[in-house]
Amino acid sequence: MNVYLTFDIEIWCNGWNQLDARFPAAFERYVYGRSPHGEFALPQTLSILDEHGLKGVFFVEPLFAARFGVDPLREVVGLIQARGHEVQLHLHPEWTDEALQPLLPNVTHKRQHLTYYDLQEQTALIGHGLRLLADAGAAPVTAFRSGSFAANRDTYRALAQQGLQVDSSLNRCHAVSGPDLRGSADLDQVSHIEGVQSLPVSVFRDGFGRLRPAQVGACSAAELRDAMDSAHRRGQREFVVVSHNFEMLQAGRTQPDWVVVRRFRALCAHLQREAERLPVRTLAHGIALSASTAPWQRAQARWGSTAWRIAEQLRRRWS
Ligand SMILES: [Zn+2]
Repeated sequence: MNVYLTFDIEIWCNGWNQLDARFPAAFERYVYGRSPHGEFALPQTLSILDEHGLKGVFFVEPLFAARFGVDPLREVVGLIQARGHEVQLHLHPEWTDEALQPLLPNVTHKRQHLTYYDLQEQTALIGHGLRLLADAGAAPVTAFRSGSFAANRDTYRALAQQGLQVDSSLNRCHAVSGPDLRGSADLDQVSHIEGVQSLPVSVFRDGFGRLRPAQVGACSAAELRDAMDSAHRRGQREFVVVSHNFEMLQAGRTQPDWVVVRRFRALCAHLQREAERLPVRTLAHGIALSASTAPWQRAQARWGSTAWRIAEQLRRRWS
């Protein structure tokens, strides 16, 4: 079973007021995440991957560069590519109305999700994202993930028009993800949608019976291990793990979140040990689409692995 370690890389300025004044500190926090213990945003993420000989897929959000210029974006792309990891496209259209040069005609207000834009607008925004990444020195982009997992059928038509081969936007735990595709497209397995390969974020059933996306910051290491092992046993071909550039930092503080740091290290150590059974792949060359012979069954984590996550959360709240 192929495993994809994917990271959505984005910069937020803690609201939309005083953007220009806030951007330098936001960039430092979201890109470097400096703390007394080291740089726990991108640098530590890349180092942990490198220590375990794993390659990551980094979906980088570029629209902020339409406001602040391409140099900061070039710095982000450079950090990732210099260590041999992959840059792909992530898009948060919240930035559309903040651009210095309008990205779309007649933008009068903020529209959060890509699904709030029509086909022509989605195609244009994806085109702007690709152009900005190319200007920032990114290697040719082949894959996409929409901000907040917001995608609809028009998103796939727009991706096809822009020549992108792979999409990893679908996440069945989010209502904005494929609202018009539920029932007509596969939200769990690799499939083709409008000529684009769809590689959904993996969602497993946790030990208490609830659906949970495989996200580093939101699952215990044991849950992720259980989910991957169970998916593998059930004949699943692909498993997609999600994280963000800021997940190893405590919210609003310049301190590492040691719980998440330990989880990420444990996940990488497991994948290094299990490299034959669970090889970690990237997306530059697309994915080999082949029908699974086994009937689809959702991966599951054990009760104890979920109970451990709850204990971690409680301990964090009181520490
Ligand atoms: Zn995002």
